[in-house]
Amino acid sequence: MNELLSHLERKLPESLRLLEQMVTMESPSFEKRMVDEFVSFLGERFHEIGGQVDFINAERFGNHLRVRFAGPDKGRILLLGHTDTVWPAGEIQKRPFRIDGNRAYGPGVFDMKAGIVLMWMALSALQELRPGLARSVTVLLTSDEEVGSNSSRGLIESEAGQSSAVLVLEPSLPGGVLKTARKGVGRFTLKAIGRAAHAGIDPSKGINAIEEISRQIIRLQGMSGPGGTTVTVGVVQGGTRSNVVPAEAGIEVDVRVESMEEADRITKAIRSLTPELAGARLEVRGSISRPPMERTAETARLFKAAQDIAAEIGIDLKEGSTGGASDGNLTAALGIPTLDGLGPIGDGAHAVDEHVEIDSLPLRAGLLAGMIERL
Ligand SMILES: [Zn+2]
Repeated sequence: MNELLSHLERKLPESLRLLEQMVTMESPSFEKRMVDEFVSFLGERFHEIGGQVDFINAERFGNHLRVRFAGPDKGRILLLGHTDTVWPAGEIQKRPFRIDGNRAYGPGVFDMKAGIVLMWMALSALQELRPGLARSVTVLLTSDEEVGSNSSRGLIESEAGQSSAVLVLEPSLPGGVLKTARKGVGRFTLKAIGRAAHAGIDPSKGINAIEEISRQIIRLQGMSGPGGTTVTVGVVQGGTRSNVVPAEAGIEVDVRVESMEEADRITKAIRSLTPELAGARLEVRGSISRPPMERTAETARLFKAAQDIAAEIGIDLKEGSTGGASDGNLTAALGIPTLDGLGPIGDGAHAVDEHVEIDSLPLRAGLLAGMIERL
């Protein structure tokens, strides 16, 4: 392990230059041309270190990237990540990549371009130091994770199904803590339909859709609580003019659950909401689209193995959970042991102070390489 770590330390300046190039090439989820360019750049970098590169066409979003590294297929590992960022094109002009002491800043650096650099560091170090990988490794980088993974879900599930463990290089929790549980996420929309009427002449002929939706908001907000479930009404719309009884109003609702049991319970509860005002109608749409990543016995075993490898390089590895979802939710739901949050130490995902701690890069890459060799 020491040989591996000192190799990774020596390669740190080169790795940081790669990180700078990657952050400077912007890749907003909805800018297909920019993401495609970034993805073909990454394809070249992985090809240079011995990977067999495939681009999987996506129509609306950037192409997905799959890289296979040869080795015995038994115990194949899937390294999972995404190339898209939440930042709009041009953000890099406002906040160019910069290094300040032990921190590297820039849009998308923590979520999750430095995580991709860790994959590159670990695989290139293993290829240079050892004659062959202990098992085959697939790197899968999708391009629509930040916007729901609709175009990549099938690909993620099929690659996970051919692997015995999934390692997700998303940002870690504060201090480098891994994520062994994530909440599942659902989005629902409710529309109340009433009847328009003149607010001065005929108010009694109207059915106020805003009042109806307000009553539903109170009910929904009251559903948070049991088993860590949260229900958040995040958007409300309705009405046309102040002197018209509104005929329509709608809301968008975010739902987070820790277990499939809660997912079923809350989905049923929301779908069976009924209008309170006489004559009003209610349209309910939506579902839990990302299942919860539950901490199974197999996940716990995988984490313990990671912890032992980490201890050898002086990392006291801990685990935690989060309300945020990732593609790890999809692989865990298939029953494939999944460890998430293996990315670098840092802070500020989706925020302007987003950064990674530079000295964590060789250590986290060492941990990843150790896991590829010995899990
Ligand atoms: Zn991410």
